Amino acid sequence: MIALARKYRPKKFSDLIVQDHVAAALRGAVAQGRVAHGYLFAGPRGVGKTTAARILAMALNCEQRSAAGEPCGVCDSCSRIWAGSANLDVVELDAASNRGVDDARDLRERAMYAASTESRSKVYIVDEAHMLTREAWNALLKILEEPPPRVVFVFATTEPQKIANTAAPILSRLQRFDFRRIGPHAIIARLKEVAKAEQLQVEDDALHLIAKSANGGMRDALSLLDQVLSFSEGGAPVTAERVREVLGLVPDELYGEMLRAIVERDPGAIFPLIERLLEAGADLGEFVNGAAETLRALLLVGVGGQPEGLTEGLTAVIREYAPQLPPADIVRLLTILGESEERLSRSANQRLLVELLLLRWAMLDRTVELSEVIDALAKGAVPPARPPVPPVPPVSSVSSVSSVNPSGQKLEPTLENVRSVWPQIVAEARAKTPMLGSLLAEAEVVGVDGRIVTVTPGNAGHSEGLERQRDTIAQAIGRFISEAPRVKIASTETPRGGPAPERMTEERAGAERLKSLRAKDPTLSAAVDALDLELLE
Ligand SMILES: [Zn+2]
Repeated sequence: MIALARKYRPKKFSDLIVQDHVAAALRGAVAQGRVAHGYLFAGPRGVGKTTAARILAMALNCEQRSAAGEPCGVCDSCSRIWAGSANLDVVELDAASNRGVDDARDLRERAMYAASTESRSKVYIVDEAHMLTREAWNALLKILEEPPPRVVFVFATTEPQKIANTAAPILSRLQRFDFRRIGPHAIIARLKEVAKAEQLQVEDDALHLIAKSANGGMRDALSLLDQVLSFSEGGAPVTAERVREVLGLVPDELYGEMLRAIVERDPGAIFPLIERLLEAGADLGEFVNGAAETLRALLLVGVGGQPEGLTEGLTAVIREYAPQLPPADIVRLLTILGESEERLSRSANQRLLVELLLLRWAMLDRTVELSEVIDALAKGAVPPARPPVPPVPPVSSVSSVSSVNPSGQKLEPTLENVRSVWPQIVAEARAKTPMLGSLLAEAEVVGVDGRIVTVTPGNAGHSEGLERQRDTIAQAIGRFISEAPRVKIASTETPRGGPAPERMTEERAGAERLKSLRAKDPTLSAAVDALDLELLE
């Protein structure tokens, strides 16, 4: 069986999908006899650069070329060039393996022999041209300065910038064409044509998966289809499941399970999830990439966009979870991913790092939008409370007061003492409610008078939150200080006669707005207290 990638390789300029701009320009040049001596074909791998170079060689030498400049694709010359069989007039070189100065000299000597007959053109196709040495380029530059008649050089590269760095002068001698990445839609459409021509039954989702794995390369897509077919029984339809098995892809439902664990804050689900992944033979790096793509698609939906190239299964997963994960949360999840990614690529213990990543996701404090709370209240329901945060171990053995432990000896109620244990108080409070922890971390203890501990909020917007939780704060302090204290939250009001009030900051404006909402709606106020919400607008 001929490989599909080979069998369906284009034979005409018009067969080059997506690269219409290149096809039109080359066809026109051939038709008008204005073909240049040197071309640079730049673009990602598998998008048709070498194929276009071969079609150019076919067109230049075709015995039955059309007036528009297309090769016939079937004459003896076309067939031989297309098949890459021994041919005096087309020389294909791979710079990745022929990059020394000897080859450059060899190239120059061979280029001196022009085409085999007067009517023919000689085409040199140099693949991976960015791998050529400076010496090789210098030799080529001399040829291109005085090119022999009917000799054409085509340099194909995935990294044109490297050529600009090592051989800038050569670029001015070359006509450059940039090949585009082939999008999933174009790949799927082409795969469908091939499947039809081959009388193959292939599920749409299977095509989506192949197109995604091919990452913009048409040749890769056809090779992947071949690979899946070689593992399938003759005549059996190609299913998405089969493609996943053969290519080691992650089943869509595992991304659904991942999102469920995040939305429901269920860190316990992470270890079994990774176990299932590994059992399914999936690659963890592949999984992390897929997770990133899934989150990106969710984010896109969250901001009103429409993700493309997803399987039906994943589309369903995204539809289910998009309403439950606000964009702000997704951005935070992606930020955590970004922090882990570099370590992931370098680590020998990928599994542990992926588990840690997912645990961090599943334990992330979520933001709740004020509008959601109000909506829920309007419907007469309080939004579901978040499951409890797994306790953070209290900070110990860090400061000079590490010998003081809550069950041990307590300190005298002095300003100095309260300040010395403040970091521990903050850590304890944070373990109970992260929100209170943050409020206290920014607050300052400004006075201890007998049993009264006075605390100044980090900013005016914090006073209310602290005021509401005075008892909790007092309890936390009481674990370190001998006299059961009372807490007073200092006013941050500007004293009369002092400097003019600051302009209202956005944060403060938000707090003010919330305050007035609370005043109007006691139920909202109660819900906010109960849920300890981090309010966003
Ligand atoms: Zn022909």
